[in-house]
Amino acid sequence: MRTGELTPYSWLLRKALLTFLIAGIVALSAYGAYGWKREEQDARENFLILSAFLASFSQIYFDGLGNGLAPLGDLLAQTDVFKNPEAARPHLNNFIKRYPSVRAVAVFSPDGVMLANTAVKAGETLPDFRLDPPYIKQLLSDMTSTAPYTLAPPEYGKALRMWRFTVRYVVRDSEGIPKFLVQAAIPLEKEGTFLHQLPVPPNSYIGLLRADGYQQARFPVSDASDIYGKLSPGPVAKIISEQPDIKAGYFNGSSSWVSGESSRIGAFTKLPNWEMYAYVSVPASYILKRWWQHNAPIFISFTIFFALFVILAYRMTKREGYFSSELINQAMRDVLTGLPNRACLNSILEANIISASSGQRKFSVLLLDLDRFKGINDTFGHAIGDKLLIRVAQTIQTMLRGGDVLGRLGGDDFLLILPGSDESGVMIITQRILDSFKSSFDIEGHALRITPSIGIAIYPDHGEEPESLLKHADTAMYESKRLGRNAYTLYVDQMGKRVRDRLEMEQQLRSALQNEDFRVFYQPVVDMQSGEIVAVEALVRWLMPDGKLLMPDEFIHVAEDSGMIIPLGEWVLRTACRQLRLWLTAGLSLRVAVNLSTRQFQDPLLMEKIMTIVQETGIETSRLELEVTETAAMLNPEETIEILGVFADKGVRIAIDDFGTGYSSLSYLKRIPANTIKIDKMFVDGLGSEVQDATIVRTVIALAHALGKETVAEGIETEQQYNEIKAMGCKYAQGFLLGIPLEAETLTRLMASWKDKNMILFS
Ligand code: C2E
Ligand code: MG
Ligand code: MG
Repeated sequence: MRTGELTPYSWLLRKALLTFLIAGIVALSAYGAYGWKREEQDARENFLILSAFLASFSQIYFDGLGNGLAPLGDLLAQTDVFKNPEAARPHLNNFIKRYPSVRAVAVFSPDGVMLANTAVKAGETLPDFRLDPPYIKQLLSDMTSTAPYTLAPPEYGKALRMWRFTVRYVVRDSEGIPKFLVQAAIPLEKEGTFLHQLPVPPNSYIGLLRADGYQQARFPVSDASDIYGKLSPGPVAKIISEQPDIKAGYFNGSSSWVSGESSRIGAFTKLPNWEMYAYVSVPASYILKRWWQHNAPIFISFTIFFALFVILAYRMTKREGYFSSELINQAMRDVLTGLPNRACLNSILEANIISASSGQRKFSVLLLDLDRFKGINDTFGHAIGDKLLIRVAQTIQTMLRGGDVLGRLGGDDFLLILPGSDESGVMIITQRILDSFKSSFDIEGHALRITPSIGIAIYPDHGEEPESLLKHADTAMYESKRLGRNAYTLYVDQMGKRVRDRLEMEQQLRSALQNEDFRVFYQPVVDMQSGEIVAVEALVRWLMPDGKLLMPDEFIHVAEDSGMIIPLGEWVLRTACRQLRLWLTAGLSLRVAVNLSTRQFQDPLLMEKIMTIVQETGIETSRLELEVTETAAMLNPEETIEILGVFADKGVRIAIDDFGTGYSSLSYLKRIPANTIKIDKMFVDGLGSEVQDATIVRTVIALAHALGKETVAEGIETEQQYNEIKAMGCKYAQGFLLGIPLEAETLTRLMASWKDKNMILFS
């Protein structure tokens, strides 16, 4: 488990806190929404009441004014308004005193001639409205009206020089014929309107809208000409025009005719006796303001509470998460190395088994025990021992791929779980681990040498449960110890005998390599023209404990499969070069041919190793010939050409071994930078009997010639073969006839009397 991952408990805790938080937010939002609705309803009702109040106030105001004009008219009728209009002035002024919202009073004759006007000083000319058709039309129509008084829409007053509306009363004679008309003018600008004293919220608009869509009065008004004398496009006008019978209602929307106006809400009520509506509106934000005023304390305290809660919850879950993952860490990790411990490894093993079984894949379990670790503890103390364990863990860790797991079972036992690794995969990493133990570990100035013993079990071959896998890896590990430590063993119980034997040989090969239980034999290669030994081929043999020599055909493939051919080949190469050095020093001019296997060929360090050996022994590279079988060379011809090219550049000679068995393509043969072609013994054997073989040998020799390569005939056992091949133009010969592979000393002695002994051949 990684840190940062949650334990079930902290997960539960976090979920609970989150649920609580979400529930809180939902509740608060519901409360807020409910509050909003209530606020909106409240405001609407308030505005409806206000508009109703404004309607009845206006009605009373108009009636008071209209009805007040009747006594004034009667009074004027007693004076002769026509002959002496100035006599009317004191009555008119008295009227204005009684009705302070009236700014001017005027008297008109039935034909529309203005007789008197308080706004015009005595003796000055009165305006003549007969020149203003709309005005005179309205005036004449009011003159005939039978209503107690009339209410005209606002106009710009010519005498008053401001927007105003008029209330008119007609004085009639006993027959009902109009005698004259009295008119009171009520100004409509700024603070002067009769509406301005109404108790409404700040930023309110109040007003009277006529049913015909014109404003009768409005407060406040910044520019009267914007509002009066025009049809209103506002929301109230729209509602009234759509529902002419409506008595009251709410509205919202923006009055675009007032410049810069935002959305507003309000209510309206029809005046009791006039086709006119009183309205009140406020900006829509009024609701928000009121809502906030009423709910802010709750919201602020809730928000503070939630913030505190979130902080607290966060800290709580973090602490909880930290402690539980710490606990898990402690329970799952080895304290010293920080690696997964036994319990953790068990669950990792189980997980691997589940995933491997579903995908039918293999994986390897590798148990590693340090040899004689107790000795280190005893000699250097536990502190050093602990540091060595840490260093070993670190060293192994660097060799792992992603997905591989290294853990410590306890003491000096480590366990590796390698997903996807089968026998061959695990061998590679095991070999790498063994190699990494070759150099000593430097711990506080002590160069500590330690070796591991490794046991390997593979799922599912060696067990399908963690227990059986561990048990079998353990058995294999003890086998490694039994075989002399610093080794690895693959568990074998469930494999067939052949494999077991083979593994046993592998095991033995490994210790033989350590003990250098190998010998290099040398077989002479003879120049067929001069009869001289010009080269020797190094051939490895395994000296068994019973003193018998095992031939390469019996063990080379095992060494190749297990990868041991790499150290073995290096050893042969070094031994052969050292021997050549001795011969050269002794005055013998020889070359040495060393066989390379495919596995060595793929070793990226091969070139480096060869050059080191060549330098160590001080031989010229041209005295070293590397033999690669034709089959190996043709496995991947392009790569072969590339690698051999590098050797050729360094001057190392190349021979294609066992030629004729590998189906070379001629085009590749041409490109391979080989110096020599070794004709396989198979063709030499057939020379006497098989006509075809003679043709093949002759062709190969001719081909080699054409490509500028030398030829060696292998496995020459008879004089007849020798002569026949010599006649075909082959350059060199190798075979029991000329000399069997021998140990260096024996061959050295033989070479001294070489020519004399083989006189018959070379005559
Ligand atoms: P090779 O490289 O073709 O070596 C020649 C083999 O033929 C040798 O067998 C040699 O003893 C055998 N031979 C030579 N002349 C005659 C003959 O006249 N009659 C008969 N019957 N056999 C003859 P050996 O030593 O058993 O080696 C077998 C193979 O093992 C070699 O074939 C080579 O491919 C491989 N080998 C030997 N030593 C090494 C080595 O150090 N490394 C590698 N990678 N392979 C090696
Ligand atoms: Mg060879
Ligand atoms: Mg050969």
